Amino acid sequence: MAVGTTIEKITPYISTSYLVIVSMSAQLIDGNKIAAELRSNIKQSVQKRIDLGQKAPGLAVILVGQDPASEVYVNKKVKACEDVLFNSQKIVLQDSVSQQDLLAQVEKLNHDESIHGILVQLPLPEHLDASEILEKIRPEKDVDCFHPFNIGRLAQRIPVLRPCTPYGVMLMLDSIGQDVKGLDCVVVGASNIVGRPMAMELLLKGATVTVCHKFTKDLADHVSRADLIVVGVGIPGLVKGEWIKPGAIVIDVGINRLPNGKLTGDVEFEVASQNASWITPVPGGVGPMTVATLMQNTLLAAETYS
Ligand code: NAD
Repeated sequence: MAVGTTIEKITPYISTSYLVIVSMSAQLIDGNKIAAELRSNIKQSVQKRIDLGQKAPGLAVILVGQDPASEVYVNKKVKACEDVLFNSQKIVLQDSVSQQDLLAQVEKLNHDESIHGILVQLPLPEHLDASEILEKIRPEKDVDCFHPFNIGRLAQRIPVLRPCTPYGVMLMLDSIGQDVKGLDCVVVGASNIVGRPMAMELLLKGATVTVCHKFTKDLADHVSRADLIVVGVGIPGLVKGEWIKPGAIVIDVGINRLPNGKLTGDVEFEVASQNASWITPVPGGVGPMTVATLMQNTLLAAETYS
């Protein structure tokens, strides 16, 4: 009994040390660094516009209600605008706002010449029809890229504005010099925001793409054959480290807050790091890229459509 107790106490210490010190072989893809470089380039382009007497790009962000997480995201986006010299408008509407009033607000921004990008922070309260509101945004100002017009352009291989998170992932792959042509890529999660447009981005670049979702029968089997895995589900540790093929690239889009307050992704990071060649951390991976590509889209909208 005494011996068993001793082993139980010692084992976690040994295994934790082993994982951290001995086994980490993957290189980290540093989203903070890549996003900072992108923001710096955007700022230079905006300064050039201003020097030429052109308008700074303008982004309007609509927040409905007081969801704390949404407030944090909106404030991050407003701060990012300041950092790259954009004009920003933060519009806060009551939880009880009607569909008609919200549509009218979007329509007003559609006609505002100082605004090049409009973003409606999701999720919206249940009484509102998000699809109708997102489709009300003029496609030329749809910098979050949720409008069927912009998704359709991506599907037809002629993207202009591109969904921020998958676009950010593609820039991360560029930053490590990774061409995905011919790679076996597995996207886990099939949402409109992450999985589906991610699959289209990879397909556009010539990858062979499998999309897994909650009805997929054997997730481990798909993941273990992939050269590149992109995971966006929202379940901590869903993708087991042991499933990762040696040398594969792992992009973890998931952001989950654990009961202890820590943020974590959807992939078992430590074990996956032993097998992967490259891996993104959470936090500090895809998250900062999503805000930076929103800025990039807003600049592109200003340069392309105004
Ligand atoms: P969502 O709930 O809209 O979609 C989740 C997807 O996961 C669905 O397609 C579902 O079929 C799939 N899924 C659910 N259970 C599964 C399972 N057991 N196996 C395989 N697939 C399963 O979520 P979302 O909005 O796409 O967000 C997903 C995650 O990505 C969340 O953690 C979110 O916070 C994060 N996220 C991060 C960023 C970023 O910038 N890093 C941006 C958007 C979303």
